[in-house]
Amino acid sequence: MKQILNYNADTICIDCRHDLPVTNFHFDDNNAVKKVLYGHAKVENGTALFRFEKKGLTQQLIHRLK
Ligand SMILES: [Zn+2]
Repeated sequence: MKQILNYNADTICIDCRHDLPVTNFHFDDNNAVKKVLYGHAKVENGTALFRFEKKGLTQQLIHRLK
């Protein structure tokens, strides 16, 4: 949903913020980031704030950062 941003949401509106696919990987000691890196690099911890979704909000945000 696209809305006009209010004064305290200058980057993303509240509805979109609540729709972002937050991973909560920081609560999972055996998360997907650590699994992907396992055996390829010496890693103590790994995390990602959001899950990338093609055609989703995270893709739109990444493309707008470019
Ligand atoms: Zn929005």
